[in-house]
Amino acid sequence: MKLVIFDMDQTLVDFISFHQQTTRQLFKKFFNVDAGLEEVDFSGRSMAENFIELARLKNISSEEVQKNAGKLLETYEMLFGQNIPRNGSRHILPGVKELLEELIRTDHVVVLYTGDSPGVAKHVLESTGLADYFEFCVYGTQARTRLDMVKMAIRKAEEMNEMKFRGKNVVIIGDSVRDINCGKEVGALTIAVATGPHSPQELAEHQPDFLFQDMSDYKKVLAAIG
Ligand SMILES: [Mg+2]
Repeated sequence: MKLVIFDMDQTLVDFISFHQQTTRQLFKKFFNVDAGLEEVDFSGRSMAENFIELARLKNISSEEVQKNAGKLLETYEMLFGQNIPRNGSRHILPGVKELLEELIRTDHVVVLYTGDSPGVAKHVLESTGLADYFEFCVYGTQARTRLDMVKMAIRKAEEMNEMKFRGKNVVIIGDSVRDINCGKEVGALTIAVATGPHSPQELAEHQPDFLFQDMSDYKKVLAAIG
């Protein structure tokens, strides 16, 4: 029995074009600048971190972002909800559905962690129908760092299941070097998938336990989880 923690964006689903569109609309509306999410290293970061980073790039102070933080988040959630399709199942990445189907037949505890806010994650999960595969979700708005999110997920899983998940009994699956790094911090088994902006070479440099181009060969991912 393992704790399997999945990242969401670019690991399970690809809604990147909608995140880009929403970010452009948001920055135009609030700061009257042209800003693209792709201008910053967004993968494996929280929405707030990306807002601040992108604002800095556009000479907007972090105080200005912090002052508007609540409104920015709320507006992003609303715009994102308007932008994404009602049925977003074609944005589920290859092999993901099959892997999750296999995992619910095991005794593994399967959870989600995402830098997105609860509102954005809800839009994605409703549009794709993936919500039911996860016992719970930890969001970027609940913790200061990604490592704190992982620790929170472990603690919560331990409480809910009345057992300890330690070392390689924790599995972290994600598309960014940040997923690998915070997994290593807690001694977890790390599985990287090159379906995000970080190249296979970049991911390999951070030495994940396993590295896959994508999850289309889901049986291999299942074997890696163990
Ligand atoms: Mg990701």
